[in-house]
Amino acid sequence: MNGSGKWHAEQAWLGRHAANVLIDVEGGRIKSIEEDTFAPHDATVLKGWTIPGMANAHSHAFQRLLRGEIESGGGDFWEWRERMYRFTDWLPADYFKHARLVFREMLEAGITAVGEFHYLHGHGNELGEALIDAAREEGIRITLIDACYLRGGLDGRPLETEQMSFSDGDADAWARRVDDLSDTDGARIAAAIHSVRAVDPESMRIVATYARERGMPLHIHLAEQVDEVSECARIENCSPAELLEREGILGPDLTAIHAIELGEHDVELLGNNRVSICACPTTERDLGDSVGPLRQLVDAGCALTVGSDSNAVIDMLEEARSVDLDQRRLTNRRVLHQPGELLTAATVNGMRALGWEAGELKPGMLADFVTLEQPRSLWRELGAAYLVYGFSGRDVTNVVVGGETVVSR
Ligand SMILES: [Zn+2]
Repeated sequence: MNGSGKWHAEQAWLGRHAANVLIDVEGGRIKSIEEDTFAPHDATVLKGWTIPGMANAHSHAFQRLLRGEIESGGGDFWEWRERMYRFTDWLPADYFKHARLVFREMLEAGITAVGEFHYLHGHGNELGEALIDAAREEGIRITLIDACYLRGGLDGRPLETEQMSFSDGDADAWARRVDDLSDTDGARIAAAIHSVRAVDPESMRIVATYARERGMPLHIHLAEQVDEVSECARIENCSPAELLEREGILGPDLTAIHAIELGEHDVELLGNNRVSICACPTTERDLGDSVGPLRQLVDAGCALTVGSDSNAVIDMLEEARSVDLDQRRLTNRRVLHQPGELLTAATVNGMRALGWEAGELKPGMLADFVTLEQPRSLWRELGAAYLVYGFSGRDVTNVVVGGETVVSR
């Protein structure tokens, strides 16, 4: 991911529309950007629209197997989860091959960095390393978000049989295992508290301290379902977000995944602490989750990001527009988020949540960019709204990661 070269984009998104843009890349980073200029003879010409590489801030690669597989079962989120657990018993060799296919699909949809929220620890670090190897092989950036997962619920009940392989036993053992993983070119290690359900308060503090001492991003599944909120109220006398506040977990380095079942005080706490929020609309609608107060969270100070989560769909533009479309059905209002804001969620905000200096076409940033083209589009007159609402991941024609072309069609 240390490529060099020149690319000339017919149209580009620089936080605004720009035309005839020359992107000069050296050692994997953008050296300069020049607008309204001709393509020099040694530049690769990119027809259509070029936008920053997109970030998939929350993925479980193994759940790609469930696509179309458990859509005839019915039941609620918890029944889905039980069936999902049956797909977690992996042989490492298969996982490497599977992850390569998933990451290739992501690259072809314009995703240049993926956050793998990883809790399959039955073989120690073997499956985490398989994910890193698969990402390197395909040329996608990966943030391996290694999740601590210790118990079956807030009441301290033990793990169910299917969950046993997720656990390291205690948070110190989790930390010792994560110690053996290290950052490389294209791979970053980050930490996660799986959820307030799966990690006790003392262990949460150990994980958060571990991440903060090392400058790692920290992630958590938060308030996806009502049952988590009511169990937390019963046992901890507060909401999940209030529990995180009490334990000192909230902060600008934290990304809360889902953040759906929130009260006004929760929104205030997350906003005041500048927590990033990761919405996963295509998965959330698949699982029958409600719609989170995303407009209020952004107004309160949160940065919005998006993720493909279960990978039932892999398309960050679909995730981005669904953030708005889902809230429209809840509020009877249209355009709660401007399209440029949704594009920011799918690019620079997500990159920041994963620890990458990417997601913007400007000098100094990692040279990740994606080109979209449609044979019959009227792109000359169109801006962010068309990019988010008129294109899909299937319109990606070219992808560059760190100055190296990884998709070209
Ligand atoms: Zn998840």
